[in-house]
Amino acid sequence: MTKEEFRKQAHLLVDWMADYLEEKENYPVTPSVKPKAIFNQLPGSAPENAESFEQIFEDFKEIVLPGMTHWQHPSFFAYFPANNSEPSILAEMLMSTLGAQCMSWLTSPAATELEEQVCDWLRDAKGIDSSWKGVIHDTASTATLSAILTAREKATRFQINERGFSGNQVFRIYSSSHVHSSIDKAVKIAGIGVQNLVRIPVDENFSMIPSELEKAILADKETGYLPLCVVSALGTTSSTAVDPIDEITQITQKYGLWHHIDAAFAGTALLLPEFQHLIQGHQGADSYVFNPHKWMFTNFDCTVFFIREPQYLVNTFSLTPEYLKTQLDDQVNNYRDWGIQLGRRFRALKLWFVIRTYGMEGIRAKLRNHLVLAQKAKSWIENEADMEILAPVNFNTICFRMNPANLPSDQLNSLNESWMNRVNQTGKVFFSHTKLNGSYVIRWVIGQTDVQEKHIAAAWSLLKEEKQKLLAEQTP
Ligand SMILES: *Cc1c(COP(=O)(O)O)cnc(C)c1O
Repeated sequence: MTKEEFRKQAHLLVDWMADYLEEKENYPVTPSVKPKAIFNQLPGSAPENAESFEQIFEDFKEIVLPGMTHWQHPSFFAYFPANNSEPSILAEMLMSTLGAQCMSWLTSPAATELEEQVCDWLRDAKGIDSSWKGVIHDTASTATLSAILTAREKATRFQINERGFSGNQVFRIYSSSHVHSSIDKAVKIAGIGVQNLVRIPVDENFSMIPSELEKAILADKETGYLPLCVVSALGTTSSTAVDPIDEITQITQKYGLWHHIDAAFAGTALLLPEFQHLIQGHQGADSYVFNPHKWMFTNFDCTVFFIREPQYLVNTFSLTPEYLKTQLDDQVNNYRDWGIQLGRRFRALKLWFVIRTYGMEGIRAKLRNHLVLAQKAKSWIENEADMEILAPVNFNTICFRMNPANLPSDQLNSLNESWMNRVNQTGKVFFSHTKLNGSYVIRWVIGQTDVQEKHIAAAWSLLKEEKQKLLAEQTP
């Protein structure tokens, strides 16, 4: 592509992007395509001859776009959001234009130093202890794996890195029974074995019960296991339940365990001072992760990982072969040593653009707006005789279901499943579900960048309408 052609196409593309962002709610939130529908429209072999950008972009619109889920649609209420925003998109364009690989200070000093500073900004804005240091990863899964590997290496004085498992030590990792699957995965990859992930019972709010944690640790010690790490959740994926960080930290300190706090989604709420009490006592914990790519208007991927003693992280991951050594290694951060991968994207630029464009106050205002909308939706559900909410609404996620007559639980579950599927099939909204104590519940997450009251009001009408239709069909 010539530079001239690039300039022309880029201008056209930016216009298309701006139109898309203005009109995104006119698309169905989820596509209605059958498996392989997209695959079968693509040629079976790579084109030998050059094709025009016009043709490629035409196919993007004709083939790709109809097969996309529109995550930026304001009526996307499923999973957790993966928000973007205009400043984040602009930063991403600059990042890909520079095309820098930011593995060490020397390979782009500005990338390293911007990363240091935006991590400090976020640490301070969240009320995390000022002695902690941050690093940006791709995902929370990666950050949690690096926390568990670091815990393992600290506990064994870096001996497993050196010699491998001797086969004798059996480590134990503790989490609540509502733990995210990324912890299972990290435990597997770290060689600890998923059987050694101990799921601690939760209370009626789905929060880990600290006395049960301590009991499990003591029982394991008695049996000869090596308790290694607790992964607590600040906002579980099912229902955004919050584990008691303070009490868990006291236990991890008492028994010398690593405490990693998984705040992947709800951690963004700590930007609001009124939520910072949730991490009271974290100073004695060891690491903390949250995803600006979920609820902080920074497009995927962007995860910030904070750690109290980064030297353990660096000792776990650094290996500097001759060709990567530089003269400044003792004066600068080489972030390649702060995690698993060598090559790194310049993700700090997105955060810098987003934070400066909104200002922290602007971000807080958006978050508070989401929280107010969630309280509104919660009150609508509460006032409906045949609906109920099955978990505390700690942030902006509501777990609810219909519960019309005295139905047996499996019938009730399938009724709610049909309800959600019917609502989703309209293409106007997208909800996802979870199970709480065996009950099928719809999760309503109100955190999309541009969601407004009109969107939740429309979703609410749709939910009620489809409920009436479904119940009418059920009646013989
Ligand atoms: C989303 C989520 C994760 C995984 O996040 P990725 O960045 O996709 O790896 C982990 N833990 C919790 C609590 C989450 O909500």
